[in-house]
Amino acid sequence: MKQRPTTLNDEVKQALDEALQRYSGNHHGKNASYIPYLASVPSNLFGISIMFCDGTHAEVGDTDYAFAIESISKVFTLAHVLDEVGPQVLRSKIGCDPTGEPFNSVIALELHKGRPLNPFVNAGAMATVSLIKADNAKDRWDQIQTTYNAFAGRELPVNEEVYQSEADTNQHNRGIAWLLQSYGYMHADPMQVCDVYTRQCSVSITCHDLVTMGVTLANGGVNPITGKRVVAAKNVAPILSEMTLNGLYDTTGDWYYKVGLPGKSGVGGGILAVVPGVCAIAAFAPPLDVAGNSVRGQLAAEHLSRTLNLSLLHEFA
Ligand code: GLU
Repeated sequence: MKQRPTTLNDEVKQALDEALQRYSGNHHGKNASYIPYLASVPSNLFGISIMFCDGTHAEVGDTDYAFAIESISKVFTLAHVLDEVGPQVLRSKIGCDPTGEPFNSVIALELHKGRPLNPFVNAGAMATVSLIKADNAKDRWDQIQTTYNAFAGRELPVNEEVYQSEADTNQHNRGIAWLLQSYGYMHADPMQVCDVYTRQCSVSITCHDLVTMGVTLANGGVNPITGKRVVAAKNVAPILSEMTLNGLYDTTGDWYYKVGLPGKSGVGGGILAVVPGVCAIAAFAPPLDVAGNSVRGQLAAEHLSRTLNLSLLHEFA
């Protein structure tokens, strides 16, 4: 069986170059447009990063371009809440199962009497934000931002233009927040929670930030660049379980079949894959497939997973 790399080497660099070359001409998919700002991001941007648990890393393409974290933020808010309330509370109040419906589905909520089922659909993400023990909106937001900064190892800005664009058009999410409240799954003021959730989606990151955030999970919760623990080691497996089952909207099964790794995507075009104990891969390319996942990002992750034997099912690859 082919060995997996555990640190940056020429084979890894070559696989990155190949992925960029092979897929930069792929123009399938469309930028998200239901958030007006996202439609205006240049569609041809494409960046790919890899970072190993020893901190060695390499990047190709537009890895310095700052984009909106969007749904990938849900992973890091989950980390914060797991540290506060623990996996049992999280599972009982939210869950870890696919809804079988799109990420913003109201029908899914109705079908399960308001239980969101997992923290990566919008309902579950807002319920997660509501579980943060906070006195007011600022306190709630500060806790989230502090956690994200620790994952990235730097202060991540909010893109105020993205925030405004989303805040002006998030009536659907506000509806979901009220529904959660009506069913008893919203644990703080619904409109405060929806606003903080909208702000977390507007955090601006580069591929380099994203790969650093991801490798912190691969490394058992310790950021390998800063050396600081960001999430309790016992909470990493629950996070990766959620990513495995629900990370790529309603095509998570297809992703796992092809890439074999816990992942998370966002409608800003970012995508993250985590190889526990080894490395993380981050990619950014704005055009999305119909489920909401970056088309080129998925192809890049699949190429790296196959070429470098990174799949968790690699013994049979
Ligand atoms: N802010 C977006 C929303 O709430 C995030 C969705 C996503 O990336 O899946 O609709």
